[in-house]
Amino acid sequence: MTSECYPLVKTGGLADVVGALPLALAPLGVETRVLLPAYPGVREQLTAARKIAAIPDLFGGPGALVAGTTAEGLQVWLVEAPHLFARKGGGPYIGPDGNDWPDNHLRFAALSWVGAQIALGKVGGWKPDVVHLHDWQAALTAAYLHAAKGAGAAAAKAVPPSMLTIHNLAFQGVFPHDVTPALKLPATAVTHDGIEYWGNISYLKAGVQWCDRLGTVSPTYAREILTHEQGMGFDGLLKARADRLVGIVNGIDDRIWDPATDQHVAAPYSARRIAPKEFNKAALQVELGLHVRTDVPLFCVVSRLTTQKGFDLLLEAMPVLHARGAQLAVLGTGDREIQDAFQRLAETHKGQVATVIGFDEPMSHRFQAGADAIVVPSRFEPCGLTQLYGLRYGTLPVVARVGGLADTVIDANEAALRDGVATGFQFSPVDAMQLGVALDRACALFADTLAWQRVQKRAMTREVGWGVAAGAYLDQYQRLLAGR
Ligand code: ADP
Repeated sequence: MTSECYPLVKTGGLADVVGALPLALAPLGVETRVLLPAYPGVREQLTAARKIAAIPDLFGGPGALVAGTTAEGLQVWLVEAPHLFARKGGGPYIGPDGNDWPDNHLRFAALSWVGAQIALGKVGGWKPDVVHLHDWQAALTAAYLHAAKGAGAAAAKAVPPSMLTIHNLAFQGVFPHDVTPALKLPATAVTHDGIEYWGNISYLKAGVQWCDRLGTVSPTYAREILTHEQGMGFDGLLKARADRLVGIVNGIDDRIWDPATDQHVAAPYSARRIAPKEFNKAALQVELGLHVRTDVPLFCVVSRLTTQKGFDLLLEAMPVLHARGAQLAVLGTGDREIQDAFQRLAETHKGQVATVIGFDEPMSHRFQAGADAIVVPSRFEPCGLTQLYGLRYGTLPVVARVGGLADTVIDANEAALRDGVATGFQFSPVDAMQLGVALDRACALFADTLAWQRVQKRAMTREVGWGVAAGAYLDQYQRLLAGR
């Protein structure tokens, strides 16, 4: 159950994961259904979706449907509830005015409630063995399933085991307490032992409290969220359930992210034939109005531009790049202040810095193919995908040593370079000075073409596909079934 799924709807890494994991699980014998709201953009792409079941009353409105189809190899089930999801403008969570949709509590309670009905085998004659919830938008399913268990031993047995994956603990689905009467939950669910959360309610807490298995998207982040500093209010509860918490690093979908076959890349290349990458660099420089130069490194950013992602630190560290004559290309949307600062920088450093404000999937591929390095200075990062794409594209990641970034990039220190295992650059603590040091180290290595190419080759041949992660998820599902 999910609120995003690539290529149907995407605002971030969650979509990439949900779009790829079922495909990676299929060869392992796992049959999946992805349950997703029928946002208008999704419905337009899935015109073949057919009614599976009617739901006469789904949190108001004239009636809703569950419809299903196959798309891009995925079996997708949609919650068709026009009163909740068929909105003009805005995105999955945010309206055209830039604020959250005012009824998000109902929209994602509805998704979760339908998810629970499917889990209980009440929709379309299909019942899953295991229920996998993604993030707060789906997490309230755990509350409905917990409530169903209250109806006696037989009812409890009919509830399949569940797993919650937390893609980012910062997003907790917190709403005022007074929305609870609308949620079709028993009063006992809305107590301190339930979804009550520091005077409000939290949908994520339902999943953390009641799912049989908890996962997050890297082992380091799984450890970090148990600390007071990074637990974001959940550390106590997570610690109490730490024996059920696992960290599994995301893979990348290499049908989509492979520089040898990527349709958005002008000159395909691979670890064995890396030279054409230079054409992509020149093409990107031309596209963005940067000076066409091979002798200076081109750093890039493809990201939400928020404080979490640490781009205020990059703004502070820019003198290091200027001193080296390096270039920077930024593609992102987010906080107005950070956007404006990068736009100003592009104006004052024409030919050296380019900023594109927007969300542009094809352009993100051209950035990965054309840049020499990608900067990910996150203050915290559950997994991070852009550094994985960077590895695959020989676009060396410069990353903060936190969460999934710590788990996926091997710093090009002396020992790692000598042993031929380095794949990028890490810095810690996460501040502008240390970021500057890492950027400077990257520039120095770039100047040594052979050494740079050795690291590129190593990065490009590192296993970053879904194979390992899919096996780890299957293992979790099997443990859940064995524990019944
Ligand atoms: P998060 O999910 O926290 O935003 P991730 O690194 O896990 O960060 O995933 C971000 C995903 O969104 C990646 O696939 C990245 O390429 C994509 N992305 C982020 N910003 C943009 C943008 N402005 N244009 C295109 N793709 C973007």
